[in-house]
Amino acid sequence: MHQEVDRRIDDKKSDLVSLTVDLIRIPTINPPGDAYVPCAEYIGNRLQKRGFHVEYIRARDTPGDSDAYPRTNVMARREGKGPGPVVHFNSHIDVVEVGHGWTTDPFGGEVRDGKVYGRGACDMKGGLAASIIAAEAYIEAHPDFYGAIEISGTVDEESGGFGGVAHLASLGLFSKPRVDHVIIPEPLNKDRVCLGHRGVWWAEIETFGTQAHGSMPFLGDSAVRHMGSVLHAFETELYPQLAEKRTQMPVVPEGAKQSTMNLNSIHGGEAERGGAGKPDDYDGLPSPNVAESCRLVLDRRFLIEEDIRQVKSEVVDILEGLRSNRENFDYALRDIMEVLPTMTERDAPVVQAVSQGIREVIGREPEYVISPGTYDQKHIARIGHLHDCIAYGPGILDLAHMADEFVGIDDMLESAKVMARALHFLLSGQQQIKAG
Ligand SMILES: [Zn+2]
Repeated sequence: MHQEVDRRIDDKKSDLVSLTVDLIRIPTINPPGDAYVPCAEYIGNRLQKRGFHVEYIRARDTPGDSDAYPRTNVMARREGKGPGPVVHFNSHIDVVEVGHGWTTDPFGGEVRDGKVYGRGACDMKGGLAASIIAAEAYIEAHPDFYGAIEISGTVDEESGGFGGVAHLASLGLFSKPRVDHVIIPEPLNKDRVCLGHRGVWWAEIETFGTQAHGSMPFLGDSAVRHMGSVLHAFETELYPQLAEKRTQMPVVPEGAKQSTMNLNSIHGGEAERGGAGKPDDYDGLPSPNVAESCRLVLDRRFLIEEDIRQVKSEVVDILEGLRSNRENFDYALRDIMEVLPTMTERDAPVVQAVSQGIREVIGREPEYVISPGTYDQKHIARIGHLHDCIAYGPGILDLAHMADEFVGIDDMLESAKVMARALHFLLSGQQQIKAG
């Protein structure tokens, strides 16, 4: 029975490649969120021809939405012969900026040596294409299936997913009874099941000073030096503390099995060239000033064993300590974003189904991992209250966002076969298969 679907997937190899190439050629760069409408329509038109009911859902009033850059998602649903379980494949259609160092056209979709190259090839247009081929092959081989299959292409994952999965979840589209099982084909490698991700806290710290002439800094008070004291305290107190915190979550890579914190940016004193209040082409000299403000954006990634209140208070305690011990030190702290860690249980149906697919297609035990960063699973868990969700898809995670990003064609074919098996197990209620 599976041979039938496998054969159909193999027969669709050139279709899979051209689908991936076509998707890469639509430059859905985010920010600003370019070309979402043509990309959503490309997916929608294809699935409509295969009997899917297709809807376009624009997330008005979400960050970045405008008539120039509409946050348009596509949601496609293929009903089976009668009621039954619903399996959903969710892919984000946005890609990150191109960056430097490419030796091939990032939006050309070059096919070479069994790989498709381009921005988004691995993260995650290859996964989207594989899931479409898997669903189409499954439907052809099992036209009388019960339940429903959904495929969505959603926006803005790279910038938080607020106009994408979060918006659709708030409309009830990622909750029972509309949907039961969700697979997100992010590039986690074809033999791995990604159960969830660590938590995130982004915040901005601002220190304050008093402006004065730079030749007489003693007449002012430097916000940059105050920020220096914050950095010093982070180095001597906070970082050693974070390095001690280890998780039981199977996070990859190894370095992310502990709490981490990145200092994303620092801006103090006068704006740089092209910064606030200066024209882009200004290249004159700065004027001598003592900085009256310094801002630091921190990106703290935390573990399922940590409480978000604790995570924040570690930073607040340092800032309060400086306020009482350092002369004229004052600060403001602004939350930018927070995401709680999430981890689907290993005995959840979708985990069982995909694991069995990996055993059969790839011939080894799946590896269970947790992503160091977050992805749209957070919205499905928190807003949709749906916990039968994982990430599984082709592509090498380390290539995401890099120059000369690619996805392997055989990887896409194999993971499409895994996805088709998962569909079969879930739709036929056979997912409770003993680990082999
Ligand atoms: Zn991604």
